[in-house]
Amino acid sequence: MLLAEIISVGTELLLGEIVDSNAAFLARELAARGITLHRKVVLGDNLNRLAEGLRTALARADLVIVGGGLGPTDDDLTREAIAEVLGETPTEDPALLAWLEGLYAARGRPMPQVNRKQAWLIPSAQALPNPVGTAPGWFVQTGGKIIVALPGPPRELQRMWREQVLPRLPLPDHALFAVTLHTQGIGESNIAELLGDLTKAANPSVATYARQTGVDVRVAASAPTAEEARALAAPVLDTVRHILARWIWGEDDDTLAGAVTQALGGRTLGVIEAGSGGALCLLLADQPGFLDAAVTVDHARLITLGLTPVTLGSVGVVSEAAARELAAGAREHLGAEVGLAVVTATAGEQAGQAFVALSAENAENVAHVNWPGDPAQIRERAAVAALALAYRTLRLPQPSGKAGHA
Ligand code: ATP
Ligand code: MG
Repeated sequence: MLLAEIISVGTELLLGEIVDSNAAFLARELAARGITLHRKVVLGDNLNRLAEGLRTALARADLVIVGGGLGPTDDDLTREAIAEVLGETPTEDPALLAWLEGLYAARGRPMPQVNRKQAWLIPSAQALPNPVGTAPGWFVQTGGKIIVALPGPPRELQRMWREQVLPRLPLPDHALFAVTLHTQGIGESNIAELLGDLTKAANPSVATYARQTGVDVRVAASAPTAEEARALAAPVLDTVRHILARWIWGEDDDTLAGAVTQALGGRTLGVIEAGSGGALCLLLADQPGFLDAAVTVDHARLITLGLTPVTLGSVGVVSEAAARELAAGAREHLGAEVGLAVVTATAGEQAGQAFVALSAENAENVAHVNWPGDPAQIRERAAVAALALAYRTLRLPQPSGKAGHA
């Protein structure tokens, strides 16, 4: 059994200024690969405490993963701490130094001298290339144990983990196969009821997770090889796909915005947002077919976009009638074939209220959501609710009844 511990390094993490998403990522990765994790620790940028933390972790675990503290400045101390614990002296690695200087040369700048320590190595360490940053990682083998040091920025850490660390680890011969099915328009308890005893089995396992985009259902199996795991999961996966076909909009990395684009079937989409600050536009930004948008809370502007003065005067902007008028307005005034509107309030008496509406040639629909939360949450939920409504409404007229990915 391979036993791991994670040490996240950074005073800003310790003080809660940023949330330790790296440790969460690594913990999921370890679990998926059959590596047992017993502890996650957060330490500030302090050499003594880092060295002590490393020493204790090494005494207990076979694999110690350190995230952060590989930057060029004086408070980046991960290399120093590892060297101290192993009693080794860092030296500049000529190849690393040349690579680093090349990075700067390519941008037409000389390398600051402080960056030289990013070219350090100790005898027990192998450098892990960083294709998206300046800090190489370290893969350290010492007395049958492994220390992995990864840069703090999540994009760099994740890529280095996948491309450089995983191939070097003595992984247990045990493979996991998992598929996550994304659903919309059905609650977690209803899904649990439909799935019945399937959710009680351990391997393959079937688990539900409530997300903003709907309920996710994860089917996972583990076996000695990836092929066996896949074969073990297959019949259960088929059953779950069949039972939930009406509600499934995608799998794994699919996004709700992508599912909406599929359901649009080539039609163009126009969006009007009042109060959600562009949150819906952001979700749709990469989607072809997303034609045009208006983001405003200005009453006069909303009236030019289709809101009637009668609605404004009687029920106001955050109302079902306003959402309907603006969805129709998105077609008429933005020239799109399908119009989608969000009206929401993030403060005041109506805070947390949102109406979302869709207008298309042969379909109209509206939904109301009412969740408390901070403004960012309210905007995000309203935007997701708009996508969910668009997905449900647009895919329904399709005759086969087998929506999206079924
Ligand atoms: P850099 O070269 O950027 O200084 P580093 O390896 O020294 O890299 P840190 O200075 O610890 O890393 O962190 C850099 C940034 O990466 C942080 O400001 C933060 O935005 C992000 N980061 C670091 N650790 C974590 C973490 N555990 N979870 C989420 N984000 C993190
Ligand atoms: Mg740093």
